[in-house]
Amino acid sequence: MIVVVKPNVSDERQNQLIDWLKGMGLGVHISTGEFNTVLGLIGDTSKVDIDLIESLDIVDSVKRVTETFKQCNRKFHPEDTVVEVGDVKIGGGNFAMIAGPCSVESEEQIVGIAKAVKASGANLLRGGAFKPRTSPYDFQGLKAEGIDLLKIARQETGLPIVTEIMNLRDLPLFDDVDVLQVGARNMQNFDLLKELGKTDKPILLKRGLANTLKELLMSAEYIMSEGNDKVILCERGIRTYSDYTRNTLDLSAVPMLHELSHLPVIVDPSHATGIARLVPPMACAAAACGANGLIIEVHNDPLHALCDGAQSLRPEEYTALAKKVEKIREALA
Ligand code: PEP
Ligand code: MN
Repeated sequence: MIVVVKPNVSDERQNQLIDWLKGMGLGVHISTGEFNTVLGLIGDTSKVDIDLIESLDIVDSVKRVTETFKQCNRKFHPEDTVVEVGDVKIGGGNFAMIAGPCSVESEEQIVGIAKAVKASGANLLRGGAFKPRTSPYDFQGLKAEGIDLLKIARQETGLPIVTEIMNLRDLPLFDDVDVLQVGARNMQNFDLLKELGKTDKPILLKRGLANTLKELLMSAEYIMSEGNDKVILCERGIRTYSDYTRNTLDLSAVPMLHELSHLPVIVDPSHATGIARLVPPMACAAAACGANGLIIEVHNDPLHALCDGAQSLRPEEYTALAKKVEKIREALA
């Protein structure tokens, strides 16, 4: 249930209302907007008397939120959430350009790519240290050493780092990581989500290979219900019967998620298509349909990449893509 408070109500009267609501055993999520404060009531609201709340002179309106996702629901929080990572803002009118290799392979590789993507306008560096591979015989990532190398690249370039956490037991290694990625395969690892909800780290939550938007939002809810509201949603392609691409990029997810939720939505055209030459057109399409950013795989030597070389752009291809995306954003502004 949401309670919209009238504009210009004193803090004292608003706090009295909040205390009264809490006295009914409800959690109260406060969202302060430019004009109105919205109170999200969490818990069993079945016995709450809507008419009584609505009769209060400081209350504008009261609505029941019928969806099972509450905290990520736009009805709860009408304004876009902007997640801040250092000086970088993700969401609202800001556009995040996250780029880097699928996996961190060496200091030279990650620092070289970080410098190149920064020069092309990327504002965050991605790179996998822990890699979820289909085959246990494939490169599994440099793990802790990979995170150390990402930190070196951050030091060299100033770019905040984004890297995937696969397992709760690795959490201490991520203390100094800027954005923790939950990969598609872990989107419904509820214990992991709950634990990340107890941190104050921005979480990049990727949609699972066969998950609905509601399931994605419920996973965001797992993180937010533990107190962490810095969640960034990511559409990265889903499994369909399409035969020539790795996945199918569900771009309609972007405007639909914006309608349903206030969280930022970014797009990963690399894993969605699996083919480097398809990444630029799909990146442009994502920018055109309102995505709040792109996460793109870039490698200095795709032919020798230890993971996902086929979908990785060369730095100069990324530069050209970044320019096109910029033009599309200007055209839409
Ligand atoms: C990745 O970003 O490196 C990755 C493994 O992505 P996904 O979880 O979307 O497959
Ligand atoms: Mn990859």
